[in-house]
Amino acid sequence: MQFDYDDQNIFAKILRGEIPNNTVFESDHALAFRDINPQAPVHVLVIPKGPYMTLDHFARDASADEQVGFMAAVAEVCRLEGVEPGFRAVANAREDGVQDVPHYHLHILAGRNLGPMLAR
Ligand code: 5GP
Repeated sequence: MQFDYDDQNIFAKILRGEIPNNTVFESDHALAFRDINPQAPVHVLVIPKGPYMTLDHFARDASADEQVGFMAAVAEVCRLEGVEPGFRAVANAREDGVQDVPHYHLHILAGRNLGPMLAR
C-alpha cells in the first residue's frame, strides 16, 4: 500500500503551531488535544508527530520509539482524563472508515455510557 502524506492537513498545521489547539498532553512523539466537535464529555485526539496517515500506516512504518511513545501518550491521556468507568478508542481509516483528517489519530471517548459500537 502506498501512503502519500499531505502536509497541508489540519493536524499537520496543528503540529506546526499554525492552528491553535486545546492540548491535554504532549511528548516527543505524540500530541493529545480536545476534539473541536466533541461526541462525548471526554473526546481527546491522540496523534503521532510523524507523517503517518492511518493506523495501518503508523503500525507498518513508525519506529519502535514512535510506537512506544504514542502508546505511552494514550496511557497518559487515560490517566489524566479519569476514564476508570470505561472508554472507547476509535481510529477511522480512509474512505470506508470515514476518515476526515488524513493524519493518524486515535479518538479517546469517555465520560458517559457510549452505547453500541456502531449505528445500525
Ligand atoms: P476523523 O473523521 O478523521 O476520524 O476525525 C477527525 C476529527 O477531527 C473530528 O472528530 C473533528 O471534529 C476533529 N477536528 C477537525 N478539525 C479540527 C480542528 O481544527 N481542531 C480540533 N481540535 N479537532 C478537529
